[in-house]
Amino acid sequence: METNNRVLDLIIIGGGPGGLTAAIYALRAKLDMLLIEKTGVGGQIALSDIVDNYPGLPGITGVDLMAKFEEQAKSFGLEIEYTDVEKVTDEGDHRLVKTTSGDFRAKTVIIASGAKPRKLGVPGENEFTGRGVSYCATCDGFFFREKNVAVIGGGDTAVKEALFLTKLVSKVSLVHRRDALRAEKIHQDQALDNPKIEMEWNSVLEEIKGDKKVSAVVVKDVKTGETKDIAVEGVFVFVGILPNSDLVDCDKDSGGFIITDEQMQTSIKGIFAVGDVRVKALRQVATAVGDGATAAFSAQGFVEDLG
Ligand code: NAP
Repeated sequence: METNNRVLDLIIIGGGPGGLTAAIYALRAKLDMLLIEKTGVGGQIALSDIVDNYPGLPGITGVDLMAKFEEQAKSFGLEIEYTDVEKVTDEGDHRLVKTTSGDFRAKTVIIASGAKPRKLGVPGENEFTGRGVSYCATCDGFFFREKNVAVIGGGDTAVKEALFLTKLVSKVSLVHRRDALRAEKIHQDQALDNPKIEMEWNSVLEEIKGDKKVSAVVVKDVKTGETKDIAVEGVFVFVGILPNSDLVDCDKDSGGFIITDEQMQTSIKGIFAVGDVRVKALRQVATAVGDGATAAFSAQGFVEDLG
């Protein structure tokens, strides 16, 4: 889309649940807008197997859910520019979005850039990424049919992905640094009841070993200090997320998550943030959707106030 020096009403950065919801609301409010996405719309949830807690669509897959979001946004005329955003700055009368394929200008910007998986930082992790180490079970689980794998972490992602992997692999060793999971209770119960999941409580990963491919993980019991090798061909790391927030220099918390008020306003006027990239208590599709609707409403008000 060629915008030249045209100043749009709104640019949304990111096409996950928050960004696409903001787009639906903004387009229905007749804002002149563009959504910028790096690769493909859908966000992290499109990598999820079954989304069983989004109301109204029980049992839907992440891919299908996000296809519905996209289709709905496109029915209101959504235009998407596929490029990489480098920086968003406040230029006084407008906001400037610098991308690898040129500059875009808008009165308001909604940052919906989401988050990426955090790495563990253990020996072997970088070396074996793509050769046994993965951050997405639905993407790579297929390669480990009837094999043993390790899943690292105790949050919703780790437990849900471990459950997904049990449909493919022989055994999942779930390595968690404490003696209690953080994930939703319903998923905890499913994992603890699953005969293919073996819990490695109070345990941390020390090293990922192998030759050309992963062959084992070295796990340390944090209570006894003892280490042991577990023979696995795959290691799935789910130890939290890092926000994609470097593109804007607004106020953030110590983890880099963007601080907003209840209107999704950041510390820079006219720049809003929604979904996983912002500081919030609960990161879910349902809460990202609420953020997106609120931010579009705030952006509309901001544009109207400019006259
Ligand atoms: P998370 O909730 O932050 O959990 C990260 C897990 O990794 C925790 O169990 C943590 O242990 C562990 N961990 C962190 N650093 C570690 C380290 N250095 N070594 C070993 N273990 C480490 O992250 P997430 O599971 O990726 O979820 C991100 C957000 O998305 C959360 O808000 C989550 O609720 C949401 N989500 C929801 C669903 C759903 O279906 N409801 C699905 C996926 C994600 P501790 O427990 O000891 O801190």
